[in-house]
Amino acid sequence: MSINRFAWLLATMALGLTPALSAHDKVRQPPENEARLIRFPDAGGYQTLVADLHTHSVFSDGHVWPSIRVSEALRDGLDALAITEHLEWQPHRADLPHPDRNRAFEEAVAALPDGLELIVIAGSEITREEPAGHMNAVFLSDANALLKVDSDPGTDRIDYYRAANEWPPEEAVRAANEQGAFVFWNHPFWTATRPTGVSRMTDFHAALIEAGHLHGIEIANGATYSEHAHRLAMDHELALIGVSDIHDLVDWDYPPALGAHRPVTLVFAEERSAAGIRDALFAQRTVVWFKNLLVGREAVLKPLLQAALDVKDAAYRRIPDIRNPGQEIELAIVDLTLTNNSDADVRLRNRSPYTFTQHADEMTIPAHGSLRLTVRPGEKVPQINLDFEITNALVAPKTPLRMQHLVELEVGG
Ligand code: ZN
Repeated sequence: MSINRFAWLLATMALGLTPALSAHDKVRQPPENEARLIRFPDAGGYQTLVADLHTHSVFSDGHVWPSIRVSEALRDGLDALAITEHLEWQPHRADLPHPDRNRAFEEAVAALPDGLELIVIAGSEITREEPAGHMNAVFLSDANALLKVDSDPGTDRIDYYRAANEWPPEEAVRAANEQGAFVFWNHPFWTATRPTGVSRMTDFHAALIEAGHLHGIEIANGATYSEHAHRLAMDHELALIGVSDIHDLVDWDYPPALGAHRPVTLVFAEERSAAGIRDALFAQRTVVWFKNLLVGREAVLKPLLQAALDVKDAAYRRIPDIRNPGQEIELAIVDLTLTNNSDADVRLRNRSPYTFTQHADEMTIPAHGSLRLTVRPGEKVPQINLDFEITNALVAPKTPLRMQHLVELEVGG
């Protein structure tokens, strides 16, 4: 070991013992891993922010400390992370009684490395039996106001859950709304409580919607996308939400080495802030990014795909004229490149009368990649109209987004 290296080691050890550095359990800045960052372009005049609005830690039934959630969010390139512990389901209660239900959020905020701008959102999961089921309230100022346990049930988790379930869920939702929270219905397709796995409107949720107290619904949670929940969102004017609902490690459930990503909600915000995200959620400017599926209302999904896709280098093909050496002739064949500036592999189905000779009517533009197309319009025309369904971008259940793109062409000799 050289003297210099030894001196450096001593310096490092000294720094490690400095109380100022160890006072806060800050997560380390994660290593650069461009491939795993979730990346979509800004669209429609808004900033596209990536949010996971449903996560758990040891402060309810998760298995990690909140600082790990922060670290994972930074690794995934999230803009926003909501901490949403079950208020009533407290399986670690004997070891972690934590009477202040804001602690998980506070621990997450404290773990954020200086200078890194992850927006950490305070939330809670209101947890009842059917028909209420589970609901998340995000943008809370005090989670404790959403919980009321009259009797003292001791440390048994089941006793505690039963005691906490006594307070009517509509009261907890009302308390959340009094704080200006955005409230959404969690996994209404959860088979643990709904043996059919089919999401159906209930009188309980209909009354909340009527009162203006329920604003969104999960259509994707973990490994599941529900067309029934998607239908409920469209029929009842609820914001479309997609979440991880992570309890273990993101890397276990969505291995980055396999190109997997957690389900997230893309939020189209006027500004990169908690207030910007909250406003966008209430305005229903969201797209759910689940596996290789994008789900959103056409008003936001179309601008997102328009921002992601482009046509480049469109031109009639020129080849050497074998009868007149040194000269070229222009064929009535158009070559063009479709580019894709998003994380989705964009799947296209041709709806135009044209044929693309390297492809039949189904084709894919890879994420952050391109696709070369050849079009034979039959004659040299000044423009061609590309017309596609994007089969992995849904504007309603079973309804792909349709997009047209007019390509201007220069017609030469
Ligand atoms: Zn949950």
